[in-house]
Amino acid sequence: MKTLELMSQLGHERVCFWHDAETGMRAIIALHSTALGNALGGTRRWHYGDEHDALHDVLRLSEGMTYKAACAGLPMGGAKSVVLLPERGMEGTEAEARAMGRFVNTFNGQYIAAEDVGVNEQYIDWMNLETEHVQGGTGSGQGGDPSPHTALGVLRGMQACLRHIGVDQFAGLTVAIQGVGSVGAHLAKLLHEHGADLVVADINKDLVQELVESCGAKAANVDEILLHPCDILAPCALGGILDSDIIGRIQARIVCGAANNQLDKPSIDGKLLMDRGILYAPDFIVNAGGLIHLAGTYLEMSESELEGKINEIEETTSHILEISADRLIAGNKAATELALHRIRTGSVKERLHAG
Ligand code: NAD
Repeated sequence: MKTLELMSQLGHERVCFWHDAETGMRAIIALHSTALGNALGGTRRWHYGDEHDALHDVLRLSEGMTYKAACAGLPMGGAKSVVLLPERGMEGTEAEARAMGRFVNTFNGQYIAAEDVGVNEQYIDWMNLETEHVQGGTGSGQGGDPSPHTALGVLRGMQACLRHIGVDQFAGLTVAIQGVGSVGAHLAKLLHEHGADLVVADINKDLVQELVESCGAKAANVDEILLHPCDILAPCALGGILDSDIIGRIQARIVCGAANNQLDKPSIDGKLLMDRGILYAPDFIVNAGGLIHLAGTYLEMSESELEGKINEIEETTSHILEISADRLIAGNKAATELALHRIRTGSVKERLHAG
Protein backbone atom coordinates (compact mmCIF):
# COMPACT_ATOMS: atom_id res chain seq x y z
CA MET A 1 0.00 0.00 0.00
CA LYS A 2 1.23 3.54 -0.80
CA THR A 3 2.42 5.80 2.06
CA LEU A 4 -0.39 8.37 1.80
CA GLU A 5 -3.00 5.60 1.66
CA LEU A 6 -1.52 4.02 4.78
CA MET A 7 -1.40 7.41 6.52
CA SER A 8 -5.04 8.15 5.81
CA GLN A 9 -6.08 4.65 6.84
CA LEU A 10 -4.35 5.00 10.24
CA GLY A 11 -5.11 8.72 10.62
CA HIS A 12 -1.61 10.19 10.56
CA GLU A 13 -1.13 13.96 10.27
CA ARG A 14 2.44 14.03 8.95
CA VAL A 15 5.16 11.55 8.03
CA CYS A 16 8.63 12.83 7.11
CA PHE A 17 11.64 11.04 5.65
CA TRP A 18 15.18 12.31 6.22
CA HIS A 19 18.55 11.61 4.66
CA ASP A 20 21.56 13.27 6.26
CA ALA A 21 24.19 13.82 3.57
CA GLU A 22 27.09 14.10 6.05
CA THR A 23 26.52 10.82 7.94
CA GLY A 24 24.29 8.89 5.55
CA MET A 25 21.72 8.53 8.33
CA ARG A 26 18.20 7.71 7.13
CA ALA A 27 15.21 8.19 9.40
CA ILE A 28 11.43 8.58 9.47
CA ILE A 29 9.34 10.63 11.91
CA ALA A 30 5.62 9.82 12.04
CA LEU A 31 3.40 12.40 13.72
CA HIS A 32 0.12 10.59 14.25
CA SER A 33 -1.91 13.15 16.18
CA THR A 34 -1.49 16.52 17.86
CA ALA A 35 -5.20 16.77 18.74
CA LEU A 36 -4.43 16.73 22.48
CA GLY A 37 -1.04 18.51 22.36
CA ASN A 38 2.55 18.17 21.22
CA ALA A 39 3.59 14.57 20.69
CA LEU A 40 6.28 12.75 22.67
CA GLY A 41 7.53 9.39 21.39
CA GLY A 42 10.71 7.37 21.29
CA THR A 43 13.30 7.06 18.56
CA ARG A 44 13.91 3.42 17.62
CA ARG A 45 17.22 2.44 15.99
CA TRP A 46 16.74 -0.82 14.09
CA HIS A 47 17.94 -2.74 11.05
CA TYR A 48 14.80 -3.32 8.96
CA GLY A 49 14.41 -5.80 6.11
CA ASP A 50 13.41 -2.92 3.85
CA GLU A 51 12.07 0.61 3.92
CA HIS A 52 8.46 -0.56 3.92
CA ASP A 53 9.03 -2.54 7.14
CA ALA A 54 10.45 0.60 8.78
CA LEU A 55 7.49 2.68 7.61
CA HIS A 56 5.02 0.07 8.82
CA ASP A 57 6.74 -0.05 12.23
CA VAL A 58 6.83 3.71 12.73
CA LEU A 59 3.22 4.16 11.61
CA ARG A 60 1.94 1.52 14.03
CA LEU A 61 4.13 2.67 16.90
CA SER A 62 3.13 6.34 16.52
CA GLU A 63 -0.58 5.48 16.38
CA GLY A 64 -0.11 3.53 19.62
CA MET A 65 1.52 6.57 21.26
CA THR A 66 -1.60 8.67 20.57
CA TYR A 67 -3.78 6.11 22.34
CA LYS A 68 -1.25 5.65 25.14
CA ALA A 69 -1.09 9.38 25.93
CA ALA A 70 -4.87 9.78 25.77
CA CYS A 71 -5.56 6.79 28.05
CA ALA A 72 -2.89 7.98 30.49
CA GLY A 73 -4.80 11.27 30.75
CA LEU A 74 -1.94 13.36 29.32
CA PRO A 75 -2.59 16.48 27.19
CA MET A 76 -0.15 15.11 24.59
CA GLY A 77 -0.39 13.72 21.08
CA GLY A 78 1.30 10.67 19.56
CA ALA A 79 4.42 10.29 17.43
CA LYS A 80 7.44 8.05 16.99
CA SER A 81 10.61 7.93 14.90
CA VAL A 82 12.89 5.26 13.50
CA VAL A 83 16.52 5.37 12.40
CA LEU A 84 17.10 2.78 9.65
CA LEU A 85 20.40 1.05 10.46
CA PRO A 86 22.33 -0.35 7.47
CA GLU A 87 23.45 -3.31 9.63
CA ARG A 88 22.15 -5.16 12.68
CA GLY A 89 23.38 -4.07 16.14
CA MET A 90 25.25 -0.92 15.10
CA GLU A 91 26.24 1.25 18.07
CA GLY A 92 24.81 4.79 18.09
CA THR A 93 27.36 7.53 17.43
CA GLU A 94 27.40 11.23 18.29
CA ALA A 95 27.37 12.15 14.58
CA GLU A 96 24.29 9.98 13.93
CA ALA A 97 22.46 11.25 17.03
CA ARG A 98 23.19 14.87 16.12
CA ALA A 99 21.87 14.25 12.60
CA MET A 100 18.69 12.82 14.14
CA GLY A 101 18.53 15.84 16.48
CA ARG A 102 18.56 18.17 13.47
CA PHE A 103 15.70 16.19 11.92
CA VAL A 104 13.66 16.35 15.15
CA ASN A 105 14.28 20.11 15.28
CA THR A 106 12.47 20.62 11.96
CA PHE A 107 9.21 19.79 13.80
CA ASN A 108 9.62 22.92 15.98
CA GLY A 109 8.50 21.13 19.16
CA GLN A 110 5.41 19.39 17.78
CA TYR A 111 7.48 16.19 18.02
CA ILE A 112 9.59 15.50 21.13
CA ALA A 113 11.96 12.53 20.83
CA ALA A 114 12.89 10.12 23.65
CA GLU A 115 14.38 6.64 24.23
CA ASP A 116 13.24 3.46 22.52
CA VAL A 117 15.05 0.28 21.50
CA GLY A 118 18.66 1.17 20.61
CA VAL A 119 18.55 4.65 22.14
CA ASN A 120 19.86 5.47 25.62
CA GLU A 121 20.39 8.61 27.72
CA GLN A 122 23.75 9.30 26.06
CA TYR A 123 22.12 9.28 22.61
CA ILE A 124 19.43 11.69 23.83
CA ASP A 125 22.13 13.98 25.26
CA TRP A 126 23.83 14.00 21.83
CA MET A 127 20.51 14.82 20.09
CA ASN A 128 20.01 17.55 22.67
CA LEU A 129 23.14 19.29 21.29
CA GLU A 130 21.09 20.03 18.15
CA THR A 131 17.53 20.39 19.47
CA GLU A 132 15.81 21.21 22.73
CA HIS A 133 12.89 18.99 21.70
CA VAL A 134 14.00 15.80 23.46
CA GLN A 135 13.19 14.19 26.80
CA GLY A 136 14.98 11.37 28.62
CA GLY A 137 18.51 12.79 28.68
CA THR A 138 20.65 13.45 31.75
CA GLY A 139 20.25 17.25 31.71
CA SER A 140 18.04 19.29 34.02
CA GLY A 141 14.31 18.71 33.38
CA GLN A 142 15.11 15.85 30.98
CA GLY A 143 13.73 13.05 33.17
CA GLY A 144 16.49 10.47 32.51
CA ASP A 145 15.91 6.79 31.69
CA PRO A 146 12.16 6.06 31.50
CA SER A 147 12.53 2.26 31.92
CA PRO A 148 12.15 1.99 35.74
CA HIS A 149 8.93 4.03 35.49
CA THR A 150 7.65 1.82 32.67
CA ALA A 151 8.40 -1.27 34.77
CA LEU A 152 6.52 0.19 37.75
CA GLY A 153 3.50 0.88 35.54
CA VAL A 154 3.53 -2.71 34.26
CA LEU A 155 3.63 -3.96 37.87
CA ARG A 156 0.56 -1.79 38.63
CA GLY A 157 -1.16 -3.26 35.56
CA MET A 158 -0.41 -6.78 36.82
CA GLN A 159 -1.86 -5.89 40.23
CA ALA A 160 -5.09 -4.80 38.51
CA CYS A 161 -5.20 -8.08 36.57
CA LEU A 162 -4.69 -10.13 39.71
CA ARG A 163 -7.41 -8.24 41.56
CA HIS A 164 -9.71 -8.85 38.60
CA ILE A 165 -9.32 -12.63 39.05
CA GLY A 166 -9.54 -12.44 42.85
CA VAL A 167 -5.83 -12.84 43.68
CA ASP A 168 -4.22 -10.33 46.06
CA GLN A 169 -0.52 -11.13 46.06
CA PHE A 170 2.41 -12.18 43.87
CA ALA A 171 3.79 -14.70 46.36
CA GLY A 172 3.40 -18.22 44.99
CA LEU A 173 2.81 -16.99 41.42
CA THR A 174 5.11 -17.57 38.45
CA VAL A 175 5.81 -14.73 36.04
CA ALA A 176 7.49 -15.52 32.71
CA ILE A 177 9.33 -12.54 31.17
CA GLN A 178 10.33 -12.46 27.50
CA GLY A 179 13.19 -9.96 27.17
CA VAL A 180 15.06 -8.70 30.22
CA GLY A 181 16.60 -5.54 28.79
CA SER A 182 15.99 -2.13 30.37
CA VAL A 183 12.31 -2.60 31.30
CA GLY A 184 12.28 -6.40 31.71
CA ALA A 185 15.16 -6.37 34.20
CA HIS A 186 13.59 -3.62 36.34
CA LEU A 187 10.28 -5.48 36.25
CA ALA A 188 11.97 -8.74 37.30
CA LYS A 189 13.50 -7.02 40.32
CA LEU A 190 10.18 -5.46 41.37
CA LEU A 191 8.39 -8.80 41.02
CA HIS A 192 11.11 -10.56 43.00
CA GLU A 193 10.66 -8.00 45.81
CA HIS A 194 6.92 -8.80 45.73
CA GLY A 195 7.60 -12.52 46.14
CA ALA A 196 6.90 -13.80 42.61
CA ASP A 197 8.83 -16.72 41.10
CA LEU A 198 10.48 -15.75 37.83
CA VAL A 199 11.21 -17.49 34.53
CA VAL A 200 13.18 -15.32 32.12
CA ALA A 201 14.54 -15.52 28.57
CA ASP A 202 16.61 -13.18 26.46
CA ILE A 203 18.81 -13.57 23.40
CA ASN A 204 21.47 -11.86 25.53
CA LYS A 205 22.53 -14.66 27.93
CA ASP A 206 24.44 -12.28 30.26
CA LEU A 207 21.23 -10.42 31.11
CA VAL A 208 19.52 -13.72 31.97
CA GLN A 209 22.45 -14.87 34.13
CA GLU A 210 22.35 -11.59 36.07
CA LEU A 211 18.73 -12.29 37.10
CA VAL A 212 19.41 -15.96 37.83
CA GLU A 213 22.00 -14.78 40.36
CA SER A 214 20.25 -11.68 41.77
CA CYS A 215 16.60 -12.85 41.82
CA GLY A 216 16.80 -16.65 41.73
CA ALA A 217 15.13 -16.57 38.30
CA LYS A 218 14.88 -19.74 36.23
CA ALA A 219 16.38 -19.38 32.73
CA ALA A 220 14.21 -20.49 29.79
CA ASN A 221 14.90 -20.89 26.11
CA VAL A 222 13.93 -17.91 23.92
CA ASP A 223 11.91 -20.26 21.71
CA GLU A 224 9.73 -21.54 24.55
CA ILE A 225 9.26 -18.60 26.93
CA LEU A 226 5.91 -17.53 25.43
CA LEU A 227 4.57 -21.05 25.92
CA HIS A 228 6.00 -21.62 29.40
CA PRO A 229 3.35 -22.61 32.00
CA CYS A 230 2.95 -19.57 34.27
CA ASP A 231 0.40 -17.30 35.95
CA ILE A 232 1.49 -14.14 34.15
CA LEU A 233 3.27 -13.86 30.81
CA ALA A 234 5.12 -10.53 30.44
CA PRO A 235 6.30 -9.79 26.87
CA CYS A 236 9.08 -7.19 27.27
CA ALA A 237 11.04 -7.60 24.01
CA LEU A 238 9.61 -6.62 20.63
CA GLY A 239 6.07 -6.38 19.22
CA GLY A 240 3.93 -8.64 17.01
CA ILE A 241 4.70 -11.75 19.07
CA LEU A 242 1.13 -12.78 19.88
CA ASP A 243 -0.36 -14.31 16.73
CA SER A 244 -3.16 -16.86 16.41
CA ASP A 245 -0.74 -19.80 16.59
CA ILE A 246 1.01 -18.62 19.78
CA ILE A 247 -2.27 -17.52 21.39
CA GLY A 248 -3.64 -21.02 20.84
CA ARG A 249 -0.76 -22.49 22.83
CA ILE A 250 -0.10 -19.95 25.64
CA GLN A 251 -0.26 -21.52 29.11
CA ALA A 252 -0.73 -18.33 31.15
CA ARG A 253 -3.77 -16.92 32.92
CA ILE A 254 -2.73 -13.31 32.29
CA VAL A 255 -0.70 -11.51 29.62
CA CYS A 256 0.68 -8.18 30.84
CA GLY A 257 3.98 -6.73 29.64
CA ALA A 258 5.87 -3.71 28.37
CA ALA A 259 6.42 -4.50 24.69
CA ASN A 260 4.60 -2.20 22.28
CA ASN A 261 2.12 -3.69 19.78
CA GLN A 262 2.17 -7.22 21.24
CA LEU A 263 -0.84 -8.36 19.22
CA ASP A 264 0.04 -9.29 15.66
CA LYS A 265 -3.48 -8.50 14.38
CA PRO A 266 -5.17 -6.44 17.12
CA SER A 267 -8.70 -6.71 15.69
CA ILE A 268 -8.51 -10.53 15.81
CA ASP A 269 -5.95 -11.47 18.45
CA GLY A 270 -7.50 -9.60 21.40
CA LYS A 271 -10.70 -11.59 20.88
CA LEU A 272 -8.77 -14.86 20.50
CA LEU A 273 -7.14 -14.29 23.91
CA MET A 274 -10.53 -13.52 25.41
CA ASP A 275 -12.09 -16.65 23.90
CA ARG A 276 -9.31 -18.72 25.48
CA GLY A 277 -10.07 -17.15 28.90
CA ILE A 278 -6.68 -15.38 29.04
CA LEU A 279 -6.84 -11.93 30.62
CA TYR A 280 -4.96 -9.47 28.39
CA ALA A 281 -3.89 -6.09 29.79
CA PRO A 282 -3.57 -3.81 26.72
CA ASP A 283 0.10 -2.94 26.19
CA PHE A 284 -0.43 0.79 25.65
CA ILE A 285 -2.30 1.04 28.97
CA VAL A 286 0.22 -0.79 31.17
CA ASN A 287 3.45 0.41 29.52
CA ALA A 288 2.62 4.11 29.84
CA GLY A 289 4.78 4.69 32.96
CA GLY A 290 7.84 5.88 31.01
CA LEU A 291 5.74 8.21 28.84
CA ILE A 292 3.99 9.58 31.94
CA HIS A 293 7.36 10.23 33.58
CA LEU A 294 8.90 12.00 30.55
CA ALA A 295 5.76 13.84 29.40
CA GLY A 296 4.96 14.77 33.00
CA THR A 297 8.48 16.16 33.42
CA TYR A 298 8.05 18.10 30.13
CA LEU A 299 4.70 19.42 31.46
CA GLU A 300 6.46 20.39 34.73
CA MET A 301 4.40 18.10 37.00
CA SER A 302 5.68 17.68 40.57
CA GLU A 303 7.29 14.44 41.78
CA SER A 304 4.15 13.47 43.70
CA GLU A 305 1.90 14.21 40.70
CA LEU A 306 4.13 12.00 38.54
CA GLU A 307 4.06 9.17 41.07
CA GLY A 308 0.26 9.45 41.40
CA LYS A 309 -0.20 9.40 37.64
CA ILE A 310 1.92 6.24 37.22
CA ASN A 311 0.04 4.54 40.05
CA GLU A 312 -3.23 5.45 38.25
CA ILE A 313 -2.28 2.82 35.64
CA GLU A 314 -3.68 0.23 38.08
CA GLU A 315 -7.06 1.96 38.17
CA THR A 316 -7.11 2.53 34.40
CA THR A 317 -6.31 -1.15 33.77
CA SER A 318 -9.07 -2.24 36.18
CA HIS A 319 -11.63 -0.04 34.39
CA ILE A 320 -10.60 -1.38 30.98
CA LEU A 321 -10.86 -4.98 32.23
CA GLU A 322 -14.31 -4.26 33.70
CA ILE A 323 -15.55 -2.65 30.46
CA SER A 324 -14.19 -5.62 28.54
CA ALA A 325 -15.96 -8.11 30.83
CA ASP A 326 -19.26 -6.16 30.95
CA ARG A 327 -19.51 -5.63 27.19
CA LEU A 328 -17.81 -8.89 26.17
CA ILE A 329 -15.31 -7.02 24.01
CA ALA A 330 -11.53 -7.50 23.93
CA GLY A 331 -9.53 -5.33 26.33
CA ASN A 332 -7.55 -3.70 23.52
CA LYS A 333 -10.82 -2.72 21.81
CA ALA A 334 -12.16 -1.19 25.04
CA ALA A 335 -8.89 0.74 25.50
CA THR A 336 -8.86 2.00 21.91
CA GLU A 337 -12.47 3.18 22.23
CA LEU A 338 -11.58 5.09 25.38
CA ALA A 339 -8.62 6.78 23.66
CA LEU A 340 -10.68 7.72 20.59
CA HIS A 341 -13.42 9.14 22.78
CA ARG A 342 -10.93 11.32 24.62
CA ILE A 343 -9.32 12.52 21.39
CA ARG A 344 -12.71 13.28 19.82
CA THR A 345 -13.95 15.24 22.81
CA GLY A 346 -10.55 16.78 23.64
CA SER A 347 -10.96 15.47 27.15
CA VAL A 348 -8.08 13.97 29.10
CA LYS A 349 -9.19 14.84 32.61
CA GLU A 350 -12.53 13.07 33.00
CA ARG A 351 -12.73 9.74 34.81
CA LEU A 352 -12.95 6.58 32.79
CA HIS A 353 -16.15 5.31 31.25
CA ALA A 354 -17.03 3.12 28.36
CA GLY A 355 -16.42 4.52 24.82
P1 NAD B 1 15.72 -3.17 25.47
O1 NAD B 1 16.28 -3.16 24.10
O2 NAD B 1 16.51 -2.61 26.58
O3 NAD B 1 15.31 -4.67 25.89
C1 NAD B 1 14.72 -5.58 25.02
C2 NAD B 1 15.35 -6.94 25.31
O4 NAD B 1 14.67 -7.92 24.57
C3 NAD B 1 16.83 -7.02 24.91
O5 NAD B 1 17.60 -7.43 26.03
C4 NAD B 1 16.85 -8.06 23.79
O6 NAD B 1 18.02 -8.84 23.79
C5 NAD B 1 15.62 -8.87 24.12
N1 NAD B 1 15.06 -9.61 22.99
C6 NAD B 1 14.89 -9.21 21.70
N2 NAD B 1 14.31 -10.20 20.99
C7 NAD B 1 14.09 -11.22 21.85
C8 NAD B 1 13.50 -12.51 21.72
N3 NAD B 1 13.01 -12.95 20.54
N4 NAD B 1 13.43 -13.31 22.80
C9 NAD B 1 13.90 -12.88 23.99
N5 NAD B 1 14.48 -11.67 24.17
C10 NAD B 1 14.57 -10.85 23.11
O7 NAD B 1 14.29 -2.45 25.35
P2 NAD B 1 13.38 -1.92 26.54
O8 NAD B 1 13.59 -0.45 26.67
O9 NAD B 1 13.50 -2.80 27.73
O10 NAD B 1 11.93 -2.09 25.90
C11 NAD B 1 11.34 -3.38 25.79
C12 NAD B 1 9.99 -3.24 25.09
O11 NAD B 1 9.15 -2.38 25.84
C13 NAD B 1 10.06 -2.66 23.67
O12 NAD B 1 9.03 -3.22 22.90
C14 NAD B 1 9.77 -1.19 23.91
O13 NAD B 1 9.22 -0.56 22.75
C15 NAD B 1 8.73 -1.30 25.02
N6 NAD B 1 8.64 -0.09 25.85
C16 NAD B 1 9.74 0.37 26.50
C17 NAD B 1 9.62 1.51 27.29
C18 NAD B 1 10.80 2.05 28.05
O14 NAD B 1 10.59 2.86 28.97
N7 NAD B 1 12.01 1.65 27.75
C19 NAD B 1 8.38 2.14 27.41
C20 NAD B 1 7.26 1.61 26.75
C21 NAD B 1 7.40 0.48 25.97
